[in-house]
Amino acid sequence: MNRKLEVKRASAMNVAAQWRRQYYEEKADKWPKTARGASEDVYNRLCDLGVSPDLDAAAAIVGNKSWTHPTCNGCDQYVEKAIVVGYEHNLTMCEQCLEAGLAELRRS
Ligand SMILES: [Zn+2]
Repeated sequence: MNRKLEVKRASAMNVAAQWRRQYYEEKADKWPKTARGASEDVYNRLCDLGVSPDLDAAAAIVGNKSWTHPTCNGCDQYVEKAIVVGYEHNLTMCEQCLEAGLAELRRS
């Protein structure tokens, strides 16, 4: 069986590098022009957090938890930890949604 089953935890490790990979225009060797230069500013502030960035500080700089926390597919909330299950497609579930699903299964 090739089933994936792994715990994913909220983390701010490598967030600056991921941010750069997402937004920096490597070929043009520049940050994209935005009204306020926001993506470069966010990157610099994330770098300022150091090699072991504080989770809440990183989320505050980004403006939400989308870069630091897993999103539960059951309740669509950012969570501290979740289980990722899948074969071809992954499903990310928080403990509450998993418990609710288990209870439903056992009741059926
Ligand atoms: Zn959930």
